[in-house]
Amino acid sequence: MIANDPRWAQVLARDAGADGSFYYSVRTSGVYCRPSCAARPARPENVAFHPTAADAEKAGFRPCKRCRPDQPREVIRYCLGPTALGQLLVAQSLDGICALLLGDDAAVLKADLAHRFPKAGLVEDGALAAFPKAAALMADPSAKVDLPLDPRGTEFQRSVWNALCGIPAGQTVSYAELAGRIGKPDAVRAVASACGANPIAVAIPCHRVLRGDGALSGYRWGVARKQQLLAAEARA
Ligand SMILES: [Zn+2]
Repeated sequence: MIANDPRWAQVLARDAGADGSFYYSVRTSGVYCRPSCAARPARPENVAFHPTAADAEKAGFRPCKRCRPDQPREVIRYCLGPTALGQLLVAQSLDGICALLLGDDAAVLKADLAHRFPKAGLVEDGALAAFPKAAALMADPSAKVDLPLDPRGTEFQRSVWNALCGIPAGQTVSYAELAGRIGKPDAVRAVASACGANPIAVAIPCHRVLRGDGALSGYRWGVARKQQLLAAEARA
């Protein structure tokens, strides 16, 4: 019976989109889990479904230590697709865009997202409204960023990212100048590494920072992309 239940298919698929709509318990271990739990799937004959975590607890089950079904969980929706700068992954929390990741390989970008948000429920959403806007920004990086941003980082990193957003399109600054702008002129190396840790490519324009001698310096998303972005802004 359980094996034919559509919820069992969601458990086998570890479908984070099903999280919150039901929980499942395993008689042999005495624990209950979210559908997306990474634990090895139980045998269907030992499984029962529960509409809420409270129902599972009432039935005598303990919350799994791995997926913590008794704690609120953040859901992050994401969408992947090709853009002028290669594959783009757009991830959105309730508060805004929490990652714009660029690369050549969709599977690598998905793994990167999972690594950044190990505790979140990641739900692929091909209709994410932010995707076309973000993709347009990849083609025209000098356009105004019309997306709410939710960058996660330390206070220092966020101050650097905030300063990056103050560099107009078509202009560049050095890491030393940027360090001066946040009032930490001696923290040039830390500023450079905060730029490298920027999780929101292009919308937080870390590509507008060059080395002191004007050289391109590195770029988390590949120097060729940095070159392409700066060239597009110079044309605009
Ligand atoms: Zn679990």
